[in-house]
Amino acid sequence: MENCIFCKIINREIPSTIVYEDDKVLAFKDINPVAPVHVLIIPKVHIKNVMDLNEQNLDILKDIHLAAKKIAGEMGVADKGFRLITNCGEEAGQTVFHLHYHLIGGKELGPKII
Ligand code: AMP
Ligand code: ZN
Repeated sequence: MENCIFCKIINREIPSTIVYEDDKVLAFKDINPVAPVHVLIIPKVHIKNVMDLNEQNLDILKDIHLAAKKIAGEMGVADKGFRLITNCGEEAGQTVFHLHYHLIGGKELGPKII
């Protein structure tokens, strides 16, 4: 997508600190981390958010979760714990409209919303 900042990161038009990549998924450090580990995991295809998922593109969630497991292991949060969060839509606080999962950990996380 032309004006999508995360598509530009995928295309190396904007720099980022990449921590994981395969043919379907890219993961990079959040520019404004809220915890010692804060990685964004995104599909390489432009999907707006959870509401843009369908039977055809849903397989990407498998790849994203497998990537999350690898990243959590490599970043040392697999045992102590981490959160995997996606914000869907404006009232949820989504600011970048390219599906992304925040992998957050490395400290006691709180407060719990749910
Ligand atoms: P959300 O608010 O859930 O849509 O998350 C968007 C996230 O993208 C925020 O945590 C931002 O800090 C992060 N972000 C925005 N631009 C960049 C960028 N160029 N590189 C890395 N992270 C970014
Ligand atoms: Zn995009």
